[in-house]
Amino acid sequence: MGLLTEGHPLSWEETKKYAQFIREHGIEQFIHTYNKLKDRRNDCLKWGDEVEYIMVRFDHENKKVQLVLKAHDILPTLMEPEHTNPDDCSSLWRPEYADYMIEGTPGQPYGHLPVHFNMVEANMRLRRQQGQELLGKDEYVLSTSNFPRNGCIDFTYPTHKTTPSTSASASLFFPDEVIYPEHPRFKTLTRNIRMRRQSKVAIHVPLFIDEKTPRPFVEDLSIYGDAGDAYKSEAVEDSIYLDAMGLGMGCCCLQVTFQAQSIDEARFLYDQLTPLTPIVLALTAASPIWRGYLADVDCRWNVLCAMVDDRTPEERGLEPLKNERFHIPKSRYSSVDCYISPDSAMYNDTEVIQDADCFHKLTENGIDPMLAQHVAHLFIRDTVSLFKEKIHLDDTQDTDHFENINSTNWQSMRFKPPPVNSNIGWRVEFRPSELQMTDFENAALVTFIVLLTRAIMTYNLNLLIPISNVDENMQSAQKRDAVRHEKFHFRKCLSTMKTPETPCMASVQKSFFQDNECEHRLMTINEIINGSNEFVGLLRIIQDYLSNLEVDADTRCTINQYLNLISKRAAGTLMTNAAWMRNIVTRHPAYKHDSVVSDEIAYDLLWKMTKISTGEEECPTVLPLENDFLSSKCCALTDEKIDENSFIQDECVLIDQSGLLNVFHTLTRANYNRLKHEARISLNSFNDPVIDHFQTLFMTTMKPINSMDAIIQIFSLDKHEKLLEEKSNKNQLIMDNLNNKHYLLCQQVISLLEYGLKERISLLCPLPSVTQLTKTVSFLSLFFLHLHT
Ligand code: ADP
Ligand code: MG
Ligand code: MG
Repeated sequence: MGLLTEGHPLSWEETKKYAQFIREHGIEQFIHTYNKLKDRRNDCLKWGDEVEYIMVRFDHENKKVQLVLKAHDILPTLMEPEHTNPDDCSSLWRPEYADYMIEGTPGQPYGHLPVHFNMVEANMRLRRQQGQELLGKDEYVLSTSNFPRNGCIDFTYPTHKTTPSTSASASLFFPDEVIYPEHPRFKTLTRNIRMRRQSKVAIHVPLFIDEKTPRPFVEDLSIYGDAGDAYKSEAVEDSIYLDAMGLGMGCCCLQVTFQAQSIDEARFLYDQLTPLTPIVLALTAASPIWRGYLADVDCRWNVLCAMVDDRTPEERGLEPLKNERFHIPKSRYSSVDCYISPDSAMYNDTEVIQDADCFHKLTENGIDPMLAQHVAHLFIRDTVSLFKEKIHLDDTQDTDHFENINSTNWQSMRFKPPPVNSNIGWRVEFRPSELQMTDFENAALVTFIVLLTRAIMTYNLNLLIPISNVDENMQSAQKRDAVRHEKFHFRKCLSTMKTPETPCMASVQKSFFQDNECEHRLMTINEIINGSNEFVGLLRIIQDYLSNLEVDADTRCTINQYLNLISKRAAGTLMTNAAWMRNIVTRHPAYKHDSVVSDEIAYDLLWKMTKISTGEEECPTVLPLENDFLSSKCCALTDEKIDENSFIQDECVLIDQSGLLNVFHTLTRANYNRLKHEARISLNSFNDPVIDHFQTLFMTTMKPINSMDAIIQIFSLDKHEKLLEEKSNKNQLIMDNLNNKHYLLCQQVISLLEYGLKERISLLCPLPSVTQLTKTVSFLSLFFLHLHT
């Protein structure tokens, strides 16, 4: 949730008086950071994920699941390794808004090596385990965006009653005891946002109207809180009423932070990732149930915007401006309002409200108008949480006041300047993703986003569309089943004058725009991700990028599985978490088709999710098949230490022609597992109904690398007609997936395989025939061969 500073919080009345002071000093601090670090160059590519977990408790007897309020209890233990050995721990833990949440990040950020993609999922699993080990019987760590019955009566363990007339959020549904108690920031924020707004926060989430939903649907709110009928008026027809910061900030998300090489690159990345935020939001949709009701939306985004909306009635445009400085169209939790690179200026097509004094101060100090506008826009907000000990600071040594405002602008992207006196560079944070129920999915998303940033930078792509269209996309993304039914504005041609002519980019390179032609058009998520005849598709760009990269076979397999998930989800052949949850609810025997997700249904849903997340149950409608055999199981292999026990020896025997030699006698256990693993993945890939994986599995266009035994050239016969005529034995022709005739140079292959694999090859392929050869090549090619097309 951003910066956490310890200390004694000021009351709202006191905090308010410092609003201008914090703004002025925050700007001073930014100017100082900027001037000191603007020329910082050559920081390496680093990145890391953040996952917010919830903790739940199952009451199997009464079929009820509740959120366990235990973060305050287990966080000290989780944070212990960091305190004793900060440079060498596997994970870092932080408190989050609610006492049922814990936020975990990897111990160190990942770097530029492809093999790091093979570590993400294992680290996520480790974090899940670390949390899990500290929980009691029937308690579990879960990763999901929103607890379906958050805000229902007795939704926590232990239970607490709401006291709207005295509590910080004044909520009918969310008691103060659920807020993380050990850090004053959270309750202070809650109270101050409400005080500033001059009323409690509120949203009416559209209800999913089912066959037997009472019409009109008007909830009786008198059963909640401590004031009986007084709250009746807050219900709005056909909607789910929410009224607490905790019902938004109590949701979980998946964030990725990237370090760029320089401030310019960070600004470029910030802009390029902005049009992707709604696309990823739709792909990750995981929040179809709110306070025990099925909603007509699939995402948390708008709820969060509303649940921390501190704008006064004047700022919201409900009253004429009298005391306030601006009418502000959006909450401080919102999608970004402007691009920040100089080259992006023409796409900022909506009014960017800004603090004029801040803007002038920034530009007077050498900051260009685009960046100045961004900061001056963030600084239209007041501080909503201030600590007594942190007011009078040295603006050349501290960035607390800048961060006070920056980190409470909860936008879809965040531009993060380097902290003072650290070795951390200019960073950007990608923030829209909803959290998925399995580590596999979360790792897949993170990998997809990181690879995309690399491809964008390597190929100098341009994804920009007008910011108003990004905003429009952000709304479409949240609609029910947006992945399958909505269309999104997306840029038609992503290549620029600086994009190199790789095989894939060349196919889209030339379509530069005619005068007056619109640069973007509406596309489905499937087209954006998987491509079409008219559009290259983001996955093809990533595959192209990967094919020019030296990636070990193991990591490549892992990445392929991740991209396969993204591809299928975009194609609609695998469900989003949201669609799957809806499906479980609506088919549940206890569901009365009245939009209500009862205790029993929520219990069954979350129990299923628990089983799926621990790998005990399959979920073939959400996850690709064979998900039990994940690449991450091979992760430890990269650190393999060889000793006598490393060899499989008698466990797996394959006797050679002499009848004496076990061909596998020198195979290490790790390599044996890898062999099995990769063979299985290769075979599974051929069954994929959506994508033909032949190309990606067997035909990488990489330069010869030493780890391969040989590079085999396959000539296309269309180009070598003569060769074809000379060969009488047509059986030696092999068809590839594009129906091109290829003449495989059998003898050459065999002799190379013989050379590389010695006795193993004669056993597997004593008399080369086309069928046997194909089998051999399929089986072995990933590890021993890379066919060079
Ligand atoms: P936030 O302010 O969003 O809470 P965190 O401090 O929790 O940010 O870290 C977010 C992520 O950034 C973590 O995954 C962490 O590993 C990663 N990270 C840490 N240092 C760097 C760095 N120098 N460059 C990029 N990412 C980093
Ligand atoms: Mg973050
Ligand atoms: Mg964090």
